[in-house]
Amino acid sequence: MSQYLSSKYQGLEPYVPGEQPKMAQLIKLNTNESPWPPAPGIAEAVRKEAEKLNLYSDPECTELRRVLADSLGLKPEELLITNGSDEILNFAFMAFCDQAHPAAFADITYGFYPVYAELYQIPCRIIPLREDFTLAPEDYRNLSGPAFIANPNAPTGLALKREKIREILESNPDQVIVVDEAYVDFGGESCIPLIREYGNLLVTRTFSKSRSLAGLRLGFGAGQESLIRDLKAMQYSTNPYNVDRLAQAAGVACMAEDAYNQEMVREVILTREWTADALKSMGFSVTESRANFLFVRHPDLPGDTLYRELRERSILIRHFSKERIQDWNRITVGSPEQMRKLTDSIREILEARKA
Ligand code: PMP
Repeated sequence: MSQYLSSKYQGLEPYVPGEQPKMAQLIKLNTNESPWPPAPGIAEAVRKEAEKLNLYSDPECTELRRVLADSLGLKPEELLITNGSDEILNFAFMAFCDQAHPAAFADITYGFYPVYAELYQIPCRIIPLREDFTLAPEDYRNLSGPAFIANPNAPTGLALKREKIREILESNPDQVIVVDEAYVDFGGESCIPLIREYGNLLVTRTFSKSRSLAGLRLGFGAGQESLIRDLKAMQYSTNPYNVDRLAQAAGVACMAEDAYNQEMVREVILTREWTADALKSMGFSVTESRANFLFVRHPDLPGDTLYRELRERSILIRHFSKERIQDWNRITVGSPEQMRKLTDSIREILEARKA
């Protein structure tokens, strides 16, 4: 840190993204990316749009908002498009939290929430998940600030039914409830149908996972118009051209490729279930994931050991040092071939430890 850094950031611990190593032949199962390429129409749309890169992008994302709104049964005014869903989460922390309105979230959830809270010096109310990692809506009664709920949750993969989120919305009419649906397409139940009923609901989504576009940086928030206007004020007060031309063009092209995207999602779900069964047969506990990753623990194999042993075999998974989950690992669902190599390697590791 330099001598110039503002004292208000001295304690800041930035978010640590999963490693992006450049090892050859690496099987990368650590950042929940899709193993499949983006839909075929996208490259051509991007190439065409590249000819207009001398001009700023549309700060309103008019065309993308229109097609997205159509597909979700919403009005364009009920959407704000952002640079990945991390940015809409950032805007929500900026817009709705302050000293008097602490951010509430689970002890085990997306690791960026505490970072935003720290960045904006917002107090946090950490609400522990139950013993089995489930979230109990009654633990979220009478909040004094916004709640951030990843649904399905990360890294556990567990999903809450829409009616459970409804309970949280109903018991906190004066607080914004942010439902982070980064993984919802892999088997969760979306809260977008609740938007017209609840002015305090903000749903956030991403093109990074189920649409195979993590490298594009495209996400969005959906909520009632007044909420979206507040968030838009954050956009226009930080970076009005937050979504570049290539991302907008790719997003529009992607929306015309739903059949392709749905096929890729189906494939991931099938592979997830195959992998979960294979791991269970080796003695792993596996949570009931509704996401594109598995959360697993083996009684005889500490989480960091499995992480290291797999890394030596050029397979990268995620291990978190947080005490409550240090016996666990999060494994992104890759292609069937990658998952066969993963399970073969784990079998080998377990056998070597027995011998
Ligand atoms: N929410 C959750 C729960 C996530 O795991 C991620 C991915 N790291 C994000 C939001 C942000 O994803 P993106 O910025 O790529 O849309």
